[in-house]
Amino acid sequence: MDVKVAKKYIRQHIELFGDEIFAPFHGNYIKTFNNFGSFHESLNSFKSSIENCEKCNLSLTRNKFVFGSGDPDADLLLIGEGPGEEEDLKGEPFVGGAGKLLDKILKAIGYVRSDNVFIANIVKCRPPQNRNPLPSEIEKCTPYLNNQINLIKPKLIVALGKVAGQTLLKENMLIKEMRKKIHQYNSIPLIITYHPAALLRNPSLKIDVWEDFQSIRNLLKS
Ligand code: URA
Repeated sequence: MDVKVAKKYIRQHIELFGDEIFAPFHGNYIKTFNNFGSFHESLNSFKSSIENCEKCNLSLTRNKFVFGSGDPDADLLLIGEGPGEEEDLKGEPFVGGAGKLLDKILKAIGYVRSDNVFIANIVKCRPPQNRNPLPSEIEKCTPYLNNQINLIKPKLIVALGKVAGQTLLKENMLIKEMRKKIHQYNSIPLIITYHPAALLRNPSLKIDVWEDFQSIRNLLKS
C-alpha cells in the first residue's frame, strides 16, 4: 500500500474511531498514538498562524484571507493566481464562474476538489479590481505557498494561468511556451496550463486544456 493510501486509511479510522490506534504487533495489541492527526493539524495550524497576515497592502482591502482548500493528502495541487470577488467574500478558492469550470474539468479526469486535490493561489488575498498581484505581493506570499507544498507533498503541481506559471518558473514566458513540458518546482513535477477564466473568455482554448488535463491524469496514475 502506498504511503498516501495508508495515511488516508488511517485518517478515516481516526475520524470513525478516535485518535488511538490498536495495532497487532508481535501477537499483542499495542496502543499507538497517531501522528497523522498532527499532520492535518499542522496544515490547519499553519492556516491559523497566517490568516491575519498584514505583510502587504492586500490585507487592507481583503474581506477574507483565502488559504486554499481540499484534501491535505492530495496528490494534485492546483495553483491559481489569487482570489477574485466571490473567493474574497467566501474565503474559499475558485468558487466563482472559473471555479465551476474547474470543477467540470476535474470531473472529466475523474477527480473532485475534496478528494486527492488541494487548491491554492499564489497570493492569498484579493488584489483590488482583480488586478494582477504585484511582484512585491507575490514575494511576500510565496513562502506561504512553499510551506503548503511542504506540508501537502503533492505528487504533481498544476499552475493555472500566466501569473501562476511565471511565478513558479521565475520566467517571463507565455502560456503556450510553458505548456506541454514537465517542469519542476521545489523538486515536484509542475505542469502549466491555461487559467479556467481564460477558457471562459476564449472557449477555443478548451482543446489545449483538455490535452493538458489528459497528461495530468496520466502523470497522476503513473
Ligand atoms: N482565480 C484564481 O486565480 N483563483 C481563485 O481562487 C479564483 C479565481
